[in-house]
Order: sequence, then C-alpha cells, then structure tokens
Amino acid sequence: MKVRVDMSRCQAYGTCADEAPAVFTLDEWGYAQAVDDELPPEQEAAARRAAAACPARAIALQE
Ligand code: SF4
Repeated sequence: MKVRVDMSRCQAYGTCADEAPAVFTLDEWGYAQAVDDELPPEQEAAARRAAAACPARAIALQE
C-alpha cells in the first residue's frame, strides 16, 4: 500500500501521527508527511485509521 499526504489539504491537526506514529511524522509546524511512501503490511491498519481520522481528508491510500 502507498500513502501520501496532500499538503494542499493538511491543516496540521496532528491526528495522523497520534493514530499511526510509525507512518507519519510532523514537521516543526505540525504538518504531516509520510515516513515512507510504501507501507509495510503491518502498518496498513494504522494508516487506514489515520486516514479515516484526518479532519482534513488529506491522507490518500492506494492499494
Ligand atoms: S491528521 Fe490530516 S490534517 Fe492533521 S496533520 Fe495529519 S494529514 Fe494533516
């Protein structure tokens, strides 16, 4: 699975890093980026939770 944060939508809520700390890091202003574009299978469930929880719908997952 691939993961991407749409920086035009991210509002720096930080929810994604709370839900999936191994998948997302936050920069000094709180904007998210994916640690790696390609997710290992064991992180996919956390990434889905983070995408569902993102208030800005800024996280795109692709199988
Ligand atoms: S939860 Fe969404 S809006 Fe908040 S930092 Fe993560 S990607 Fe950005």
